[in-house]
Amino acid sequence: MKVAGIEITSPEKVLYPESGISKIEVVKYYEKVADLMLRFIKKRPLAVIRCHENIENGFFKKHPTTEKSSVSVFLDGDEEYFYVKNKKELIFQAQMGTIEFHSWGSTYPKIDTPNMMVFDLDPGEDISLERLREGVQDLKNILTDLRLQSFLKTSGGKGYHVVVPFKKSRDWESFEDFSKKIAQLLETQFPKKYTTNIRKNQRHGKIFIDYLRNTRGATCVAPFSLRARSNAPISVPLSWRDLKSYAPADINIKNISDKFFKNEPWEEFYFSTQVLK
Ligand code: ATP
Ligand code: MN
Repeated sequence: MKVAGIEITSPEKVLYPESGISKIEVVKYYEKVADLMLRFIKKRPLAVIRCHENIENGFFKKHPTTEKSSVSVFLDGDEEYFYVKNKKELIFQAQMGTIEFHSWGSTYPKIDTPNMMVFDLDPGEDISLERLREGVQDLKNILTDLRLQSFLKTSGGKGYHVVVPFKKSRDWESFEDFSKKIAQLLETQFPKKYTTNIRKNQRHGKIFIDYLRNTRGATCVAPFSLRARSNAPISVPLSWRDLKSYAPADINIKNISDKFFKNEPWEEFYFSTQVLK
């Protein structure tokens, strides 16, 4: 069987043992969202979670190996990285068993000039969904006060991601520095609610604002990527209005409604002219 010109081997292989989701369902999903995803991940260096058997034995892959001829590969110092530039390369990843696509905050060839900032909000154990949503809103408000437009997506796991597009202008160091200041602003304003401390034992009863993904080489799961977790949840772009309607892992490969494939909430993301001053 061929999808986007790629021969799909073992189409019936079950990648999600609990829900019985097969490789061909995953491949067809990626065929359906290919254009939506490419709009975002095209030319972004990737790291992927690949599962040869099923989601229980996935591994994180940052460097291309045997598939080198079917992705776009580039050298960074003496390390090789890869990105996808079209549907064929994207589907080839799925054929190789890729389930999750994580991307850098910059695009090839100017990988040293980031253009996407992400804040990852992770709830501590006893944080309710309501409080997590409040946290997301607090962060959005800080960004809005700085006249920065931000965009929301579910992580497909435990939290939400708030994403801020920028025109390429600054280096990674100033980029990370800015994101750190934002996170610390939240922490200082509401010390009982938020922490920027990476140590897990400091997160109890708090929401961890992870700004460390704004570092050269760090990655975040891409919009519309599936997760290699029970029920194949998706990291879905949401409108701010929909924050209260969907929990982080609510939307999955089986229940995603067609409205999300229009990707209206992020329409302006791609035309943003925001500059980090
Ligand atoms: P959640 O909402 O559940 O926190 P998330 O996407 O925010 O989901 P993780 O899935 O824990 O968070 O991934 C965090 C980041 O760590 C990923 O974006 C990826 O860059 C990196 N990562 C994930 N898995 C691995 C791994 N096995 N080895 C190294 N880095 C990883
Ligand atoms: Mn997270």
